[in-house]
Amino acid sequence: MRRPIRSRGKKTLSLERNEKHRAGEGSVCVESEIEHERNQHTDTMQLKTILNHVEKQKGFVYTDARFSDDQSQILVTLKPHARSRPVCSGCRKKRLGYDTRPVRRFEFVPLWAIPVIFLCAMRRVNCPDCGVKVEWLPWADGKHQSTHSYRIFLASWAKRLNWKETAAIFGTSWDTVYRAVDWVVRWGLVHREIGEIEAIGVDEIAYRRGHKCITLVYQIDSYFCRLLYVARDRTEQSLRGFFSTVSASSIESLRFVCTDMWKQYMNVIAEHASGAVHILDRYHVMKKFGDKLNQVRAEEARQMKAGAQELTMVPAETS
Ligand SMILES: [Zn+2]
Repeated sequence: MRRPIRSRGKKTLSLERNEKHRAGEGSVCVESEIEHERNQHTDTMQLKTILNHVEKQKGFVYTDARFSDDQSQILVTLKPHARSRPVCSGCRKKRLGYDTRPVRRFEFVPLWAIPVIFLCAMRRVNCPDCGVKVEWLPWADGKHQSTHSYRIFLASWAKRLNWKETAAIFGTSWDTVYRAVDWVVRWGLVHREIGEIEAIGVDEIAYRRGHKCITLVYQIDSYFCRLLYVARDRTEQSLRGFFSTVSASSIESLRFVCTDMWKQYMNVIAEHASGAVHILDRYHVMKKFGDKLNQVRAEEARQMKAGAQELTMVPAETS
């Protein structure tokens, strides 16, 4: 039998008090009883109260919180306010309701490691601009099963643990963690402000045993360092993507660009940031210097060897 979560808690508390009373502890536990009565409001706090405290849903109310039949999940029902009109997911305007779809499930942040599922029968609107559309929800994208809060929760843990561990600890799939991180990163890219940049560093890293490369562009200002851009390969096209992503004012503010001596990068820097000082990576300069020195040394050794052979071939003068 499914009981509201509050009534389950209340029953447990009442049983404890009755057992104490039967055992004759009532008189000696007066102070604790008074304390208990004082805290009764806290003891009987409903899950709905907690949810309203952490995340009110505009236009909706939490009507019911209960365990699933197998006690493995907490099911929370959300219903629209009686007089609220649904919001069109196409234009985000309040519209007249059209019909109501079957109940859908949305994963919320787990409580005490118990999965929390929001249940909501979404309405459809009859929008004069967009036609018949499903309503916009404040807690999730209509197409996705995870709530925004759950995605942010998973993505924040995925920064500390690897994705497989995050999925295992919170009882979800690797795909769900991947989608959460992807969603958060995309949101960040759309809403980030790059502003003025004084210095960037361009580098590449190899993956798949060195067979493939990706191009990375970092902001390396003395006051702020961050990864700005990632692209496949290390072609001119890879780096051009960075300059087409950032604003013209960000490019104009560039004073220093650091790269290795990869010709393709140098071409693009000359094309887009000719006003900035181009600083070449010391490691690569020294490597080129060492390579050239070796080449000269080998050439001279070859010449000396050839000269020595010529000397030995000159016939000795007879007296
Ligand atoms: Zn609309």
